Amino acid sequence: MVSANTLCKKLLNVKTAVVESADFYSDQDGVNHIRIHARPNIWHENDCPICHKRCKCYDTKNPQPRSWRALDWGATLVEVVYDTHRIDCPEHGVLVADVPWAYPSSGFTKDFDLTVGWLAVYLPRSVVSEYMRIDWETVGRCVHRTLNDIEPERSRRLDNLVNIGIDETSYKKGHKYITVIVNHDTNAVVWAAQGHGKTVLESFYKQLSKEQLSSIKVVTGDGARWITDCVREFTPVCERCVDQFHVVQWAMEALDEVRREVWNEAYADVKQLKKEHPRGKGRPKEDDPSTAIIRAAKEKAEEIKNSAYALGKAPEHLTEKQQLRVQMIAENNNRLYRAYRMKEMLRLLLKIKDVDEAEATLKRWLWWASHSRIPAFKELYEKIKRHKQHILNAIRLGMSNARIEATNNKIKLIIRKAYGFRNIQNMLDMVYLVCSDLRVPLPNRKPKTA
Ligand SMILES: [Zn+2]
Repeated sequence: MVSANTLCKKLLNVKTAVVESADFYSDQDGVNHIRIHARPNIWHENDCPICHKRCKCYDTKNPQPRSWRALDWGATLVEVVYDTHRIDCPEHGVLVADVPWAYPSSGFTKDFDLTVGWLAVYLPRSVVSEYMRIDWETVGRCVHRTLNDIEPERSRRLDNLVNIGIDETSYKKGHKYITVIVNHDTNAVVWAAQGHGKTVLESFYKQLSKEQLSSIKVVTGDGARWITDCVREFTPVCERCVDQFHVVQWAMEALDEVRREVWNEAYADVKQLKKEHPRGKGRPKEDDPSTAIIRAAKEKAEEIKNSAYALGKAPEHLTEKQQLRVQMIAENNNRLYRAYRMKEMLRLLLKIKDVDEAEATLKRWLWWASHSRIPAFKELYEKIKRHKQHILNAIRLGMSNARIEATNNKIKLIIRKAYGFRNIQNMLDMVYLVCSDLRVPLPNRKPKTA
């Protein structure tokens, strides 16, 4: 049987610590705790928490008793206690001495912080909070320390950028925004900040060195003018592209506007019919022809109301029921069906690899949209005409659309899993952690390759 001391040390997973004693107690809720009295070994008791160099002890007269939560052992809550003191680092000044089991100013052990960081990548924050017995905000702080540990120099992500994408994502029900810059070649978010618009994007460009700016060759994004302005100002030789993903989104929005209009008209028809055929007292009579007419009109309106999903989807992915819906619209509603076909044509032409062919098709599309007599698509026509060159640039350079869409979806998922963020830094940390090739290492595991 190994000694209790060795057992505690092994379970704490820290080589340079010495365990002095351990005891059990139950708190007022009846939860069992094990309290480990530990200290760094004599070679590490005066280490600087920043540079980890051995320093001079500053004061031992005012010991500061502190405790750190460690990972549970079985179901027992574990805490490490130790009286900390201050050291005097020639480089970093007077600081609380480092302890080998925790990150500076953390109330948890490193293993604990990393485990929370790992869980937060995959699970909703509320689940992590309950399982680890920490509050919601603490999850964010653990993630922050995890991120700083596995990537101390995030600014390196800004080196050697060639193809970048600028994207904005809304949160808090569309009231707030974050701007993210994605490296298209590594698929990692290289920079993220709160807000959107020219000033935010300028602050991204302003932190780049001349070398970093000159390596950028392609910038993609939506059609926002401030993106074009910044590209012109900071990287004038750069190719500006509009992501196909955003172009399809514009078309979807225009299509939805038409659908809502058509639905409103159908609904107005139902109202009018009801006025023309006032219902008598009692239940509607089944054999009354006006009941059938009103019911048919109602069904038609309902079909249009519920068709948003079917119209937005690519035809090859439609279910049988959705196919019928589109079919019904084709037969009964010429205007909505035309809008649908224009959306589809635009979506398909963006997939064409040959830029000349794409240009010719886009020309045909523009003619069609400008003659469509549908206001939403006339507006879309103006927008696409304005960005024609940027759209064709994206096709010519073969900018992958799937990646920016994937990052966008990942960010939406992060926000959903956290049920809206109260602290913006927590959200940015999660974006950096999840939208990159970083992997949080779980303690005492063989590191995964690839
Ligand atoms: Zn130092």
